[in-house]
Amino acid sequence: MLSQWVIHIPFVNRREKGYEDRMTLSDIQRLLGELDTHPTRSLGQNFLHDQNLARSIVALLDIQPGDHIVEIGPGLGALTEFLDIPETRLTLIEKDSRLIPHLRSKFEHGTNSVFHADALDFDLRELWGHGPVKVIGNLPYYISTPLIAKYASALSPASALVLTLQLELAQRLGAAHDTSDYGAMTLCTGRRWDIRLERKLPASVFFPRPKVDSAVITLRRKPRARVRAIDDSIFESLVRRGFSERRKQLRNMLPEFKNDWEKITAALGVPPTIRAEQLSPAQWESLAFTASPATAQHGAERFDVVDEEDRVLRSEFRDVIHVNNLRHRAVHMLLFNAAGDLYLQKRSIWKDRNPGLWDSSAAGHVDSGEDYPTAARRELQEELGIEAPPLLPLTRLTPTESNGWEFIQAYHARHEGPFQPATMEVETGAFFSVSKIRHWAASNPADFSPVFLKILEHIPSTSTAS
Ligand code: SAM
Repeated sequence: MLSQWVIHIPFVNRREKGYEDRMTLSDIQRLLGELDTHPTRSLGQNFLHDQNLARSIVALLDIQPGDHIVEIGPGLGALTEFLDIPETRLTLIEKDSRLIPHLRSKFEHGTNSVFHADALDFDLRELWGHGPVKVIGNLPYYISTPLIAKYASALSPASALVLTLQLELAQRLGAAHDTSDYGAMTLCTGRRWDIRLERKLPASVFFPRPKVDSAVITLRRKPRARVRAIDDSIFESLVRRGFSERRKQLRNMLPEFKNDWEKITAALGVPPTIRAEQLSPAQWESLAFTASPATAQHGAERFDVVDEEDRVLRSEFRDVIHVNNLRHRAVHMLLFNAAGDLYLQKRSIWKDRNPGLWDSSAAGHVDSGEDYPTAARRELQEELGIEAPPLLPLTRLTPTESNGWEFIQAYHARHEGPFQPATMEVETGAFFSVSKIRHWAASNPADFSPVFLKILEHIPSTSTAS
C-alpha cells in the first residue's frame, strides 16, 4: 500500500510576495477571535495551518488560465489564499454562516463568488458554462462520501478533484484489488475516474487536531477511450451485491449467473470459488458486460435517403449514409416544464457522433419507412422512457455539412418529468433555464451539439416555446 503514496512538497520561497499574509496557527487563532467564533466539531472544522502543505495541495489542481475553481468548505481560507489567482474564476461553498463575511470581504471580487450553502444541496447546474471546472476541498469528514458521490457524478462538470479526506476513506478509494480496502466504492468511483493517493497528512497540521490522520487524493476524469462501454447501473448493482458479504463466494451473491458460472469464470480466467475482492476492475467490467452486452452502435440500421426536397429516394444502411454524406432525416425534441425550463440531455460518451455533448431533450434518426412524428414519439420512449406528450413543430433545418446532411424537424412540448434516461444513450440530463443555456452556449459552445446550437437560435427568448 505504501508504494502507492507519492510524496512531493514543492519548494516554497518564504520571501515570495504575499507569502507572509498566508495562514499560520497564530493567524487562525487570531482570526477566530476576531470573528468571535470557535471551531465546531459538528461541521468537521479542522483548519489547516501548514502553508507549505496548503500550497502543495493546491498545486495538485494544476490550475490553468480560464479554469473555474470550486472550493468546498473554504473555512478561514487556508487553501483559498493559493486559489485566488488572476484569470481564474473561484466559487466558494461554505456552510458556516459565521465565516461568510470574512470570506466575502477577502475573496469575493471580479468573477469570484461565495455561496453560503450546504455543499450537499448545492445546485451543480450553477457550475456549467464558466470554463473547465476543478474542485478542491479539505472535506468535512462527516459527509465526505456523499460529497464525493455528488461532485464526481455525471451531472458534475468537474474534470479533476483534489480532496483531503480521512486516511481510511482515501485508502478505500485508491485501493488495489485483492486487498481488504478494495470494495464497491473503489470500483464504482474508479470506473470513470483515475484515483491517485497523493500524500498522508498528520493530525498535527490541523487546528484543532482531529483524532484521525488524513490524506490527499486526486481524481482525474478518465478519457472516453479508457472507459469500457457497459451499463453503469448494471455494473454498480453487481458490485454492490458482490461486496455486500465480502467473505462469501461470488457465485452465492449473484444468482443470475448460477447456470453459467463455471463458463463465465473460466472466460475470466479465475476459479469458480472466487470472492468479490479477488476480481480486478477489468474483470468486474467483463462480468457486467456478460450480464448485458453493450449494444453496438447501430451501423446496421437503415434510414431513408432523401433528395433536396426531402422526398424519399431509397433506403440505405446508417454507415453507408454517413460515410457518403447522403441526405437523410432526423428529429429533435425540446421538453419544457411549467417554469419554462428546458430539459437537456448529455449524450453518452459512447455515441459515435457528438459523444458527451449537451443536446436537445431527445433526438434521433428517422428510421426507414417512418415519418417525423412517429420517429419523435419512438425516440422519446427509447431515450427518456416517456409516452410522448402533444408535440408542436418548432423549426426545420435543411441539410448542411455542419448538421451531418440531415433534414431536421424540431418539436417542442410540455413535460414535467421525471424521465428514465436510457443508460447507454444518455449520461445525464436536467432542466435548465433558457437564459442560463444561452449564456452557457455563448461562453462554452463546445459543450453542445452543433445542431442543438442551431435549434437554440429558434427558441423565442421571451417565451417558453411550450
Ligand atoms: N478548507 C479549510 C481548511 O483547510 O482549513 C477548512 C476545512 S474544514 C476540515 C471543513 C470546512 O467545511 C469547514 O469550514 C466547515 O464549516 C465546512 N463545512 C462543513 N460542512 C459543510 C457543508 N455541508 N457544506 C459546505 N461546507 C461545509
